[in-house]
Amino acid sequence: MQIRSDHQNQQIIGFCIDGACPNQKLFCHLCLPSHIQHISKLTSEELLSGWIKERILAAQDIQKNIQECKIALDRLINLFFLYNNFNIQQLTELGLSKIDQLIKGFSQIGDCEEKLFKQLKQSIEQTKSFVNEIIKKIKNQQVYLIFNIMITKLRIISTN
Ligand SMILES: [Zn+2]
Ligand SMILES: [Zn+2]
Repeated sequence: MQIRSDHQNQQIIGFCIDGACPNQKLFCHLCLPSHIQHISKLTSEELLSGWIKERILAAQDIQKNIQECKIALDRLINLFFLYNNFNIQQLTELGLSKIDQLIKGFSQIGDCEEKLFKQLKQSIEQTKSFVNEIIKKIKNQQVYLIFNIMITKLRIISTN
């Protein structure tokens, strides 16, 4: 890595990825003491790309959980569709006490479902606004703009 004048010509030895740290994110061994309180959040160039990969994996893991959630909801909807094909005439053949049990069961299921969906909706709204906040932060980084310009230039070069 290149030597920077604002580090008294000392070599940059790593990055600080602690979100709460007010110091410069690049550090040389002169700046190192100012990051010593959060030494586990210091990383080198190679480790930084590992950290970014970890961010991708963590998001993919959550994405997988959400997909599993969708599959579970699909099964639930299919079950309801199954019952939806019944009509009252068919139900009367079951006898009154069976119908009574069935309706009781359904109303309990309905209550459960309402509670669950209320919670889910709140979490989903929170997730969406958090994710959008993170995306905004990523896009507001000057590096993102530079990256975009670099990638666009590379595309132009490779297509010519
Ligand atoms: Zn320094
Ligand atoms: Zn720091």
